[in-house]
Amino acid sequence: MLPYGRQSIDESDVEAVAEVLRGDWLTTGPAVAAFEAELALWTGGVPCVSVTSGTAALHVAYAAAGVRAGDEVVTSPLTFVATAATAALLGARPVFADVQPDTGNLDPDAVASLAGCRTRVIMAVDYAGHPADYDELREVADRVGAVLMADAAHSIGAAYKDRPVGALADLTTFSFFPTKAVTTAEGGAVAALAPEHHRRAARFRNHGLVKDPADQRAPDVGGWHQEVHEFGLNYRLPDVLCALGLSQLRRLTRFRARRSELVARYNTLLRDVPGLTLPAQRAYVRPNWHLYPVRIREGRRREVYDRMRAAGIGVQVNYLPAYWHPVFEDLGYRRGLCPRAEAYYAEELSLPLFPDMSDAQQDRVVETLASILA
Ligand SMILES: *Cc1c(COP(=O)(O)O)cnc(C)c1O
Repeated sequence: MLPYGRQSIDESDVEAVAEVLRGDWLTTGPAVAAFEAELALWTGGVPCVSVTSGTAALHVAYAAAGVRAGDEVVTSPLTFVATAATAALLGARPVFADVQPDTGNLDPDAVASLAGCRTRVIMAVDYAGHPADYDELREVADRVGAVLMADAAHSIGAAYKDRPVGALADLTTFSFFPTKAVTTAEGGAVAALAPEHHRRAARFRNHGLVKDPADQRAPDVGGWHQEVHEFGLNYRLPDVLCALGLSQLRRLTRFRARRSELVARYNTLLRDVPGLTLPAQRAYVRPNWHLYPVRIREGRRREVYDRMRAAGIGVQVNYLPAYWHPVFEDLGYRRGLCPRAEAYYAEELSLPLFPDMSDAQQDRVVETLASILA
């Protein structure tokens, strides 16, 4: 089965991991700081905290923003469930705002009509690797005094109005799952603009431990002394995986270029296929395409999904509107809440896209899809 996404691993990755395995540190060692420093080259210098997954990054970022019971988090339903689930786990209430019909990104007007004094966070999602409309979202966030966040699991390496993802929101989260732009097997990171957010994020991923005597309540106990001021968890990304991430980041420019080339080919080859809507792109963004999300019109998405899979092409659907998950249904969220996201979901199909996909593989995807829709 040709997958919809997969990692690109070469000998330099294998070598980087093996080198750490032969050294002194398996977990928190020099590769962690090196990986975080390399990441900051992609976020316009905004410092990053590595963690064990994109989901952990979301949990850490919400915690760093001070999300707690009674808060509302306004976010997109067109995302992986973790974007909302991690806020709910902290006791907040996810409030789903509808998306723009063409990009599938959070609609700033919908956010504006739902944001208010309870809104602690506005969480955008850069769907498919296309940055959301951050200037408009920032305006709403400032008006209600909310923290602006970005789930950039799809979009590391993308830019909005010449500003890199990672520098657009107060807190930005990344995922390094194998299908994403770069991988550490499992892994993630949080980029934090404000020093206070960065400090809280760094503490939360390490049990909340306060190590610097200058910040401790009892600084004179001795060199071994550490204190917990706020609860945290162990979300530390090991050295072994940070070494892989560092090696991967050095090829991110190439990965992004190949994804972009494949997307341009899809756009050309699929242009005249009937019953198909191709992904939209705003003139002022440079996406790093993680997905190639087409829309299958005329109620044929299910049929096309089944027939592509039967032909060995691992298409995917991204995403079930988050509040359609039974856990949200049980909390009283009802279908119909975000009609544009639901309409998007009803037609969406992600075609295979990954840096190592060959032109010949892509041609087979195009031919198979075109013959089904002919
Ligand atoms: C992949 C993904 C996550 C979760 O990342 P993991 O590393 O799999 O935990 C969260 N949000 C979005 C939009 C994702 O695509």
